[in-house]
Amino acid sequence: MPTKSAARWIADGKSMAGQFKKAGYKTDLQYAEDDIPNQLAQIENILVKGVDVLVIAAIDGQTLYSALESASALGVKVVAYDRLIRGSEHVDYYATFDNFQVGVLQAKSLLEGLRKRGEPPFNIEIFGGSPDDSNAYFFYDGAMSILQPLIEQGQLVVVSGQQGMDVVGTLRWDGALAQARMDNLISAHYTGKTIHGVLSPYDGLSIGIISSLKGVGYGIADMPLPIVTGQDAELSSVKSIVNDDQYSTIFKDTRELAGVAVGMVNALINGGKPKINDTTTYHNGKKIVPSFLLNPVLVNGDNLKPILIDSGYYKSQEIRLP
Ligand code: BGC
Repeated sequence: MPTKSAARWIADGKSMAGQFKKAGYKTDLQYAEDDIPNQLAQIENILVKGVDVLVIAAIDGQTLYSALESASALGVKVVAYDRLIRGSEHVDYYATFDNFQVGVLQAKSLLEGLRKRGEPPFNIEIFGGSPDDSNAYFFYDGAMSILQPLIEQGQLVVVSGQQGMDVVGTLRWDGALAQARMDNLISAHYTGKTIHGVLSPYDGLSIGIISSLKGVGYGIADMPLPIVTGQDAELSSVKSIVNDDQYSTIFKDTRELAGVAVGMVNALINGGKPKINDTTTYHNGKKIVPSFLLNPVLVNGDNLKPILIDSGYYKSQEIRLP
């Protein structure tokens, strides 16, 4: 797993370890704290210890080439977990969510929130995920498939003019970087102007963005926070939604994703065929990696309880629903 700094990867690791154990496997679960050489060393060490299959959520999707060469030489199969591993033929399967759809849902939610507030044109800013994570481009492209036509029609105005992953990306999904960028956007482009919406691809960024906005006075009746999206249904953002600060998030049930990965490993070890439902979308630069895509679910103040509490993902005491 890439890091413990985001709650989702802790949940992913826990679900997988539990489900592997139940299925009778021994698991060596490692977190690389967003340090690429560390993740490479972890993989090389695991290969030396001896394993049958590697399940990897990459920090940087481009840097695992040599580790996967070693895996292949040892006959070790590789499942890419949530993030596509690029540039290597030795990625056997990919377990993920429909990442384009994540972006579509984020953009639709942004629009829904904006339309509740009034009439266009709306002033918005756009944030992207980490440029070394292939998912970030799918999220961005999905969102822009909805937003771009409205930008062209003038219904949405990106006041800073900043668009494109090369400009709006946020390395390592770092909330502090997003906060700093939001600070700069406000001071450079919003004197005498109000920002109505922010497309944020991940809860950890949304938290930084919201704190920047609060720092300049947003979040009171006369100056409400803009509509801010997110992803992962992390506890702090779920609380923020209940508090009417963040507008929405995307729930990706890590228990289900872990289940898909465990099923793939089971099939690989027992000589079966892993279940897949996509053989066209994920070209990693060397080949199309056969994939199984789960459905992401939009969560906002209206459906938070049935989706996150009634499903047992969180306990109501954790969220302190009013
Ligand atoms: C995952 C997202 C997550 C992000 C930051 C992406 O690869 O798909 O669910 O928000 O990484 O951890």
